[in-house]
Amino acid sequence: AIGSGEEREVDQNEFTPSIEPQPTWCPGCGDFGVLKALKGALAELEKDPEEVLVVTGIGCSGKLNSYLDSYGFHTIHGRSLPIARAAKLANPELEVIAAGGDGDGYGIGGNHFMHTARENHDITYIVFDNEVFGLTKGQTSPTSPMGHKSKTQPKGSAKNPIRPLSLSLTSGSSFVARTAAVNPNQAKDIIKEAVTHDGFSHIDFLTQCPTWNKDAKQYVPYTDIQQSDDHDVDLGDRRSASEMMHEAEDALYEGEVLTGRFYKDENRHAYHEEKQERGDFPSEPLAERYFEDGDWER
Ligand code: SF4
Repeated sequence: AIGSGEEREVDQNEFTPSIEPQPTWCPGCGDFGVLKALKGALAELEKDPEEVLVVTGIGCSGKLNSYLDSYGFHTIHGRSLPIARAAKLANPELEVIAAGGDGDGYGIGGNHFMHTARENHDITYIVFDNEVFGLTKGQTSPTSPMGHKSKTQPKGSAKNPIRPLSLSLTSGSSFVARTAAVNPNQAKDIIKEAVTHDGFSHIDFLTQCPTWNKDAKQYVPYTDIQQSDDHDVDLGDRRSASEMMHEAEDALYEGEVLTGRFYKDENRHAYHEEKQERGDFPSEPLAERYFEDGDWER
């Protein structure tokens, strides 16, 4: 009727979405596995949606919080961790989960990754590692293997990929794990452990991108190092964890996918607890101080 001159009655329900947003990821994308595992983990932990904040960066992975019934914050490229940190400090009662891709987290936000790990903020950080920048059409990313061909490196990447597990450990993460979208059950259990861990929990989550990275090793069968007799890691021992991480990082590009828990330090305090113990941080949530008595202007 637009432009026809006919009168039209507008129903306000036209502005109300009648269905939940459906994921727009490509068929076969590993991001579906993350969503399924995360939903399963939060449900099994009996979290209420209002107890959870999911902060995402830019990329295909950034759509994660659109498909979850929780608080969400979709921020700018590489900046999910500073937002997540601020939210956790303002309200330590909140379960804060940050998520983004390997380009977002290990490249553009790499500095934030190192320092959030070093400070051991009580956040779960899920990195969708598909070895490319997927949303912007498959450019080479920090985890693309040497020789990987893309539009930005048509003759093959001349760079070594970063070692995300080792970088995480040396930066100071107190929980480090790797899982894969092809096994949402293992992924769900690892997310549950990461969420309940007190400190910075980093999960390198291997997610296949069938659109831009058809050669990715994430398709091959993987080994859970906790279930394997051939692999041995003492989770609380940094040297043992470091050796296991190096083995897994070398193996990934040779076709063997090693997943599982690599490191866990249960004795270290999270950042906000350390601050509270030193007496330079309020024991009650900052958010309550700012918003008490309905004073939103302070
Ligand atoms: Fe997934 Fe790749 Fe498609 Fe992005 S481009 S939705 S990462 S398959």
